[in-house]
Amino acid sequence: MPLKTEVEDKIINQKYQILKVIKDNRKSLTARIKPEDLPVFNQRLKLFGFNSLNELAHDFIAGKFPQITEDRQIDNLVSNTQSNGLKSVLEGGCDREFYERADLKDIYNYYLNIRKFHPKTSHDLVSYFKRFRDQFFTEKVEDIRILTPRMRSKIIEAFRKFGQYYFYRFNNDQCTDLVIKIIRRYSLNVGNTDHGKLYIVDDNYLADKIKLLLEMQGEIGLIIKFGLFSGLREEELVYVHKKPICPNLGGCGCDKLHVVNKPNGISVVLIQWHRGHKKCYFSLIPTKTWEQFRKLPSFDYNPHIKSAHSFMKAKDAVLHFMWLRKAHYNVMCRIMKPFEANILAGRAKTVDAKHYAMYELDLMSNNYVDAWSKFGLNISLV
Ligand SMILES: [Zn+2]
Repeated sequence: MPLKTEVEDKIINQKYQILKVIKDNRKSLTARIKPEDLPVFNQRLKLFGFNSLNELAHDFIAGKFPQITEDRQIDNLVSNTQSNGLKSVLEGGCDREFYERADLKDIYNYYLNIRKFHPKTSHDLVSYFKRFRDQFFTEKVEDIRILTPRMRSKIIEAFRKFGQYYFYRFNNDQCTDLVIKIIRRYSLNVGNTDHGKLYIVDDNYLADKIKLLLEMQGEIGLIIKFGLFSGLREEELVYVHKKPICPNLGGCGCDKLHVVNKPNGISVVLIQWHRGHKKCYFSLIPTKTWEQFRKLPSFDYNPHIKSAHSFMKAKDAVLHFMWLRKAHYNVMCRIMKPFEANILAGRAKTVDAKHYAMYELDLMSNNYVDAWSKFGLNISLV
């Protein structure tokens, strides 16, 4: 085959260009503006980095301009759900359809059979979704913010899971994105309080882990049990092991521990130990576990807590020693009000704790027993 000359190349290029011109079916758009607005228009074009209306139109089509922030996307969704006929953020679905027409039975089956959740968990997830979907995906989402942290945790969990279901069913992850954005935008997440950070939503999950922990035997088993039942911080555990016990229970002001054994098998250990902003007033512990713990010949961070920590991790990778305190708080919250659980966990204001130390210890120790029984434990016998 002969080589193409430069001239032949030029001819081909020219032909191609002509072809392109003929096939150009672009439309011209015009905008009618007042003469006095023209300088403003040109100025604003420059301001946004465009030299001509043409450039602006191209970037607009390509989606480069204007830059839509997360907030605007959500605003669009919210206003779209208000005026019918506009497409929602979710591809394919129009307006509210994607959540209003969601097949609840199908969602339930997905949780139960695909995700292998407990029937009760699956049922709860679906019912929270059903109950709150008209608020969550609309401007009424503000109403969710005033609910309790426990309620918000449940709602958030239900919608996150719904996002996962949506992806599974329609191979579309936009719903998951949208859920995350709504949670963030409206600060539905409870992560900004102690309570939120500590909260474990799933009862079954908690029950399973507690069961696993209580199967552990020997000295390590006892240390884990004590950490779980007391909810104390690591340094507090070391402190209460060593600190002498004062026999005077009549309003004594000394700095030793004061222990009151209640008839229901629970000991109230008055600790009154403050270190910096960490305060520990008292703890409720099953009397038997308390006595066994005090009998340990030695107890320190190293090797005791450290060994218990590694032992737990080896049993289950998500577990660690500080998890015990978190679990304790969660068990308490199933029965007590968050501020009461906070007193036990040493997160309370002084005045709350003093009130409880004096007037409500019997009630609180009964609540303590009830809380553990929710997780199948007869704590008085532990
Ligand atoms: Zn004393």
